[in-house]
Amino acid sequence: MTLPVRAGLDGLADYHSPQVSVEVRLNTNESPYPPPAGWREAFLQELQTVSFHRYPDRGAAALRGAIAELHGVPPAQIFAANGSNEVIQALCLAYGGPTRTAVVFEPTYALHAHIARLTGTEVVTGARDANFVLDPAEAERTISAARPAVTFLCSPNNPTGMVDAPDVLDAARAATDAGLVIVDEAYGQFASQSAIDDVADDGNLVVTRTFSKTWSMAALRLGYCVAPAEVVAALDRVILPYHLDVVQQIAGRLALRYKPEMEARVAMLVDERGRLVRALSDLAVDVWPSGANFVLFRPRAGSGTDIWEALVARSVLVRNCSTWAALDGCLRVTVGTPAEDDAFLEALAEVLG
Ligand code: PMP
Repeated sequence: MTLPVRAGLDGLADYHSPQVSVEVRLNTNESPYPPPAGWREAFLQELQTVSFHRYPDRGAAALRGAIAELHGVPPAQIFAANGSNEVIQALCLAYGGPTRTAVVFEPTYALHAHIARLTGTEVVTGARDANFVLDPAEAERTISAARPAVTFLCSPNNPTGMVDAPDVLDAARAATDAGLVIVDEAYGQFASQSAIDDVADDGNLVVTRTFSKTWSMAALRLGYCVAPAEVVAALDRVILPYHLDVVQQIAGRLALRYKPEMEARVAMLVDERGRLVRALSDLAVDVWPSGANFVLFRPRAGSGTDIWEALVARSVLVRNCSTWAALDGCLRVTVGTPAEDDAFLEALAEVLG
């Protein structure tokens, strides 16, 4: 028996990164380093005090307060959820939906368009150029024509690593009349510029962040946005009650006490990213500058999928983007530990011959 799913879901595949059992996993942009031992101890200790028979704080006030303090904004401008993906879903539930439009600029993070479509939002696509740079004029043109309820920018952009020039955001905001402009900064701390200080309580800019990458907490599923208080109130209306469990709330609040340690990990990964890019430049691949914790590259000969498979055969897993629109032949590698990156570089050199 085939039970028909609702209209609009038929053409939507599920979204995942193939997981293969390998020694070197560089495919999902996690941190190769765990959170600090001090955080782990404080976290486990606080878990001992939890009343597990009671619902968690529905508004996650302590967590929101700590995030608000981190960014120097009132707690009413912070919304937290199960990963920044759920923040994006809540934004689409509140501001997208049938008869409304979202704009994305491809190639970019596939979940922006995917989540928009899941919520019944029509997706209009603008394009980055052949080197994945988003031209402010293209942003302006696409937004003026589509008049979207939601525009997604992503800086640093996944999977290209590219940081948008500030005039891209200026152009997007100038072209938008009644919609939200969302800047996905999942990799924000790896770059030298951010839009987070531009968020104003009376504006239409929202910046999303995650604990999954720089904070080394992908297992805990925690993300948030800084937004006008009016937007946060709308997100609170569409999210399920008690969506953040007590464990996530404790973990996130305590993580923020270890900001210097986070910054030290980020600095280490940025250095390592430089080494990885230089080493890739010596191989027969095209490589793009990255402001994130991953690097996009394109082997000059051979099929991307064949090279991806040959790397897997050498126990190295990267992301195969080679069949995605506008990413012909490209692969994406997460910055790992120096040892992991050496294993990747050695395997790639061997594969490329
Ligand atoms: N945005 C971007 C650009 C990402 O690359 C990711 C993770 N792949 C996310 C959002 C989602 O991260 P999470 O749900 O783990 O916070």
